[in-house]
Amino acid sequence: PKTIFIQNQSKDELYTLANTFNRMISRLQENIERQKQFVSDASHELKTPITVIGSYANLLRRRGLKNEKLSKEAIEAIHQEAMRMQKMTETLLDLASSENETSLHVKKVNLTQVCESLARQLKSIYKREILFHQDNPPVVVEADELKIKQVIIIVLDNAIKYSKAKIEVTVRQREGQAFIHVKDYGIGIPEEDVAHIFERFYRVDKARSRETGGTGLGLSIAKIIMKLHRGDIDIKSREGKGTEVELRIPIFYQTTQEV
Ligand code: ADP
Repeated sequence: PKTIFIQNQSKDELYTLANTFNRMISRLQENIERQKQFVSDASHELKTPITVIGSYANLLRRRGLKNEKLSKEAIEAIHQEAMRMQKMTETLLDLASSENETSLHVKKVNLTQVCESLARQLKSIYKREILFHQDNPPVVVEADELKIKQVIIIVLDNAIKYSKAKIEVTVRQREGQAFIHVKDYGIGIPEEDVAHIFERFYRVDKARSRETGGTGLGLSIAKIIMKLHRGDIDIKSREGKGTEVELRIPIFYQTTQEV
């Protein structure tokens, strides 16, 4: 460890030093608290599928093998929960590796092209009406292409899961920033939930979200990735009317100089 010698410092300098030190400590404390909360949330979320798998396995062991209907039901449930756990652990690992700036591979990305091709692919996979609008000329930003694609997929995937009608994707550029809007006309989000949807594991309706295979992690990952790019993600929604997601990203990538 490096030793810092403090000699002949003025009161003001010592005061600034102490302030910086306190800020660092409280940031470390916040980080530790966040980590603790994360571990506790993650274990809690993994507990449910483990309990389901355990109970069905026990049921099979005791009487399932003689009863074909019960065996089928148990095997189906075990398979489904195991898949959920697999998806969740993959997403958790992804989340952990996304949390710092050094994980970004920044280069020039044609955002218009990326959005158009993702919209086209998802349209053909899910057989949904996905309309694409763009500004001319194409919007090019400095960003991590894979990570930005991941965010767009999370947002489009939600629009597909939580709506049945058309989805509109728009890409444009204004004053040094690129904007992507994804608009759906689906079930929307109740007003009291909108403030929480970027929290890890937050799902508006746990039962409904389970049906659609949701983990409640998508939007929290999207937020982290957008913040790493010095951009952001915002959501406006009206229950029963639909949801509009705005992704903002600076055209030029800047790293932080902050301690
Ligand atoms: P999930 O994996 O459950 O979709 P997300 O973090 O992506 O998790 O989203 C959190 C919650 O926000 C979802 O469970 C859902 O209730 C709500 N949500 C997100 N996008 C939409 C949308 N386009 N329409 C309605 N509800 C949405």
